[in-house]
Amino acid sequence: MGCIHEITGHTKLTGLLGSPVAHSISPLMHNESFKMLGLDYVYLCFDVPEDNLETVFNGLKKLNIAGFNCTMPDKTRICQLVDELSPAASMIGAVNTVVNDNGKFIGHNTDGIGYMQSVKDAGYDITGSTMTLLGAGGAASSIFVQAALDGVKNINIFSIKDRFWEKAERMVEAVNKNTDCTARLMELGDDALLADSIADSQILTNATSVGMAPNVDGCIVSDNSMLPEGLIVSDVIYNPMETKLLKMAKERGCKTFNGMYMLLYQGAEAFKIWTGREMPVEHIKKLYFNKNQ
Ligand code: NAP
Repeated sequence: MGCIHEITGHTKLTGLLGSPVAHSISPLMHNESFKMLGLDYVYLCFDVPEDNLETVFNGLKKLNIAGFNCTMPDKTRICQLVDELSPAASMIGAVNTVVNDNGKFIGHNTDGIGYMQSVKDAGYDITGSTMTLLGAGGAASSIFVQAALDGVKNINIFSIKDRFWEKAERMVEAVNKNTDCTARLMELGDDALLADSIADSQILTNATSVGMAPNVDGCIVSDNSMLPEGLIVSDVIYNPMETKLLKMAKERGCKTFNGMYMLLYQGAEAFKIWTGREMPVEHIKKLYFNKNQ
C-alpha cells in the first residue's frame, strides 16, 4: 500500500501516463518522497493508450497538472504535443517527464541521466571510456545521448535494422557533430564484429527488451566467451533482476548491475524537475529497492 499524505484543495497533481501502468513502482517512490519532504503533491497512474493521449493531454493541461511521467507507448507521440522539448529530449525523440512551467508544458527525458547515475552508484567512472550499447529504441537512445554528453569517448551501437534505425543514424550524426564522443552504428548479426567491439570496451549495456520477462531465455550475446573478465556489464531490464546476460557475465567474472537504479534515478530527476527538491533516494532505496538489487 502506498502512503499518501492528506489531500487538500491545494494538492498538486502529478502522475504517470502509459499502458499498462498499474504495476509501476513510481507512485510508491514519488508519494513517499512527497510525504517525507512535506510537499503537497500526489502521484497517480493513468492508463492511457496512444490513441487517447492527445485528449488526455489537453484535459490535464486544462486541469493545470504540475507535471507527469510518460511511459510506453506514449513516449514518442507526446513529443508532438508539448510546447517545448529539452535539448536532450529533442535529440532522443522521446519524452519521459513533462513539467508545467507556468502553463507551458516542457518535455524532458531523464532516462539517460538515470542510467548514468546508476553507473556512478555502482561505483564506476566511465568518462573517457568505450561503450558497446545494444539497441536503438527509447532506452538506448536516452543512454546514448546522455553518455555522449557526459564524456564517454567512444560508443558503438549495435541494433537490428528496425523502425528505430534511421533515427539512430541521425542521432549518431548529431552526436559526432556536437560532442567529443565518436559514435558508430552497426547492424546486429555479425558476432565477430560485436565481439571485437566488446573486447575494446570497458562497458557493455543491454538497452533492448531482449531477456525481459516472460522471455527470460533471450540474450543478444550468444556466447559467454565474448565477455572478458573485468568488463562492466549492465542491463536496463529489472524484471527479472538477473537477466541471462547478467548471469553469463557473472560466470565470466564481469562486474554487473541491472536496471533498478536507472528506474530510481530517472524518477529522482523527474522529482527535481517538478518540485525543485532532491528525492530522498537513500530512504526510497531502503523501502522499495535494496532488497531487489
Ligand atoms: P523500445 O523503444 O521498444 O526499444 C526496444 C529495442 O529492443 C528496439 O530497438 C527493439 O527492436 C529491440 N529489440 C527487440 N527485440 C529484439 C531482438 N530480438 N534483437 C535485437 N533487438 C531487439 O523499448 P524501450 O523503452 O527502449 O525499452 C527497452 C527495455 O528497457 C525494456 O525492457 C524496458 O523495460 C527497459 N527500460 C528500463 C528503464 C529503467 O529505468 N530501468 C527505462 C526504460 C526502459 P524492434 O523495434 O524491432 O522491436
